[in-house]
Amino acid sequence: MRKEFDLSKKDFFGGRVLVTGGAGFIGSHLCERLLERGNDVLCVDNFFTGRRGNIGHLLQHPRFELMRHDVTFPLYVEVDQIYNLACPASPVHYQFDPVQTTKTSVVGAINMLGLAKRLKIPVLQASTSEVYGDPSVHPQPESYWGNVNPIGPRSCYDEGKRCAETLFFDYRRQHNLDIKVIRIFNTYGPRMHPSDGRVVSNFIVQALRGEDITLYGNGEQTRSFCYVDDLVEGIIGMMETPSDVTGPINLGNPGEFTMRELAEIVKELTGSQSRLVHRPLPQDDPKQRRPDITQAQETLGWEPTVALRQGLTKTIAYFDELLKAA
Ligand code: NAD
Ligand code: UDP
Ligand code: UDP
Repeated sequence: MRKEFDLSKKDFFGGRVLVTGGAGFIGSHLCERLLERGNDVLCVDNFFTGRRGNIGHLLQHPRFELMRHDVTFPLYVEVDQIYNLACPASPVHYQFDPVQTTKTSVVGAINMLGLAKRLKIPVLQASTSEVYGDPSVHPQPESYWGNVNPIGPRSCYDEGKRCAETLFFDYRRQHNLDIKVIRIFNTYGPRMHPSDGRVVSNFIVQALRGEDITLYGNGEQTRSFCYVDDLVEGIIGMMETPSDVTGPINLGNPGEFTMRELAEIVKELTGSQSRLVHRPLPQDDPKQRRPDITQAQETLGWEPTVALRQGLTKTIAYFDELLKAA
């Protein structure tokens, strides 16, 4: 039996929660936080980029259940809420099998929306700042429609996520589904995959190993980095909003840094002697990115609390352990 719950109550008990992509970087932190809050958690993952190690410490938890499943196939389970995070997120991983990436976003969204429709439950989509592409408006508010190349190497991810957003809003209009769409900006923290090619994990691993730190292009492109604990609070905060709050809503840290600045900070915090070297800039790499989080502040009362140096220190400690154990 599904539990009744009051979405207008800030501290409602969400019952049994499905997290797709729950064995991934963000998903594993979300599962952990939901268990702490008292939810039952069903983690669904096909382990494409997720790892059992990310959730190994949860496997014995009496309210945690793990299911190996690919969201491009239908899923018939009984739950009270869905967080749809399943999708490879780093350029290296999502470009490995681009057709599967689009299928995961689009067919995965259809299946999760179909499940939510049958159960009449809220469903949250982990969308991305990539829907803004290489933005010509800065910082990016939710009202900006984006500047996305539909046929480039990043398109499988960007357009897949854009189509998933379309599906969420069409299920809302057509079936009055309780949807929530968040646009996540670059997030970092423990349990990032050490070889997924993302800038924070790359720089930290390179610095700890004393290898060259690889700046793509001139290193003047900017990103805004949100610590994973902050993000998870925002994700849950969004799920708890009343059903008239659909988003899309930006979740990220508005602090903006060039990749050169990031490399210097990582060098300083690790005490590394690594050199900065230049590598070609990947095609369609956005030149700048920073979230306008006014909506999240006003609607969710949410904003990040962890400063970059603080979050990097925790992330460095994680990778230090990981590399020593390897
Ligand atoms: P991740 O790669 O660590 O996690 C994704 C998880 O989804 C993995 O566990 C993977 O095995 C699983 N998965 C992939 N395809 C699947 C499929 N077909 N069926 C079932 N499971 C599947 O990435 P992450 O950084 O934790 O990202 C989680 C979500 O957040 C993704 O949807 C991503 O697009 C979104 N997001 C992340 C960031 C970021 O900076 N990390 C930024 C914007 C959006
Ligand atoms: N679906 C699912 N679990 C459910 C209900 C539906 O995985 O509990 C999938 C099923 O594959 C379906 C898709 O969600 O094709 C979309 O469902 P919807 O009811 O919107 O459309 P349908 O294709 O059934 O007409
Ligand atoms: N980047 C870099 N060196 C690296 C990895 C990435 O300079 O070793 C740059 C990359 O070109 C981009 C930024 O860092 O401008 C963020 O890249 P990431 O892949 O982490 O995320 P995304 O491009 O999706 O924001």
